[in-house]
Amino acid sequence: MSLDALLSLSHQLGREERRLAILGEGNTSMRHDAETFTVKASGSNLATLSAPGTATCRFDKLIPLLSAESMTDAAVDEALFAARVSTEMKKPSVEAIFHAYLLTLPGVNYVGHTHPIAVNSLLCSKHARTFAQRRLFPDEIVCCGVESVFVPYTDPGLKLSQAIKAATEDYIKRLSRPPRVILLENHGLIALGAAPEAVLAATLMAVKAAEIFGGASAASGGAEPVFLTPAQVERIAGRPDEHYRQKALGL
Ligand SMILES: [Zn+2]
Repeated sequence: MSLDALLSLSHQLGREERRLAILGEGNTSMRHDAETFTVKASGSNLATLSAPGTATCRFDKLIPLLSAESMTDAAVDEALFAARVSTEMKKPSVEAIFHAYLLTLPGVNYVGHTHPIAVNSLLCSKHARTFAQRRLFPDEIVCCGVESVFVPYTDPGLKLSQAIKAATEDYIKRLSRPPRVILLENHGLIALGAAPEAVLAATLMAVKAAEIFGGASAASGGAEPVFLTPAQVERIAGRPDEHYRQKALGL
């Protein structure tokens, strides 16, 4: 895995964010091996990310924070600086803690976190949990999984990373598979995958699904859209031809 793959994924996701991005919003990461990963540095912009705008960190410096009872913001900052493999690197994004956790899940090598307008329009509405739990059309299942993890609004930083870990563990226990998409109420989405293509596809498909959700709801006079049934969702998820497509598409 090369850093170029991460930079290219960042630029593509950054284009999605760019329209209204004023803070260089969103962040990305990739796993190198069992010990280290690279994450966007704090203050860098996804759409123009280059190697100096990233930070390579050690998992073993950040994973223990996930079980910390409570830490001051200053102590979290100190841990982020201490996690870098070289002091010449910039400070990792505060969201590096959840990137570290997600990159330890089986089959996850890349993570992308964005705040797309269409997705956040639903995550800032009463439909947020329903959008995470239900599915509207077959390709949404192929790219985003049978369900997304839903995380109720949590203060960004360590608390959010801990909430993401708890919700993801529940999901894996219940569905016996890692998620492809995690939705953060009033905040944004996280996509995970073995390859950059999977992260990009899950992000773009979640944006498409959010737009369709809004359109279907408007077409029904503001009522909920017509969802696929759980049996229809499982049927798509279990189809060998869809598994073949997933493999061929690098998902
Ligand atoms: Zn965020």
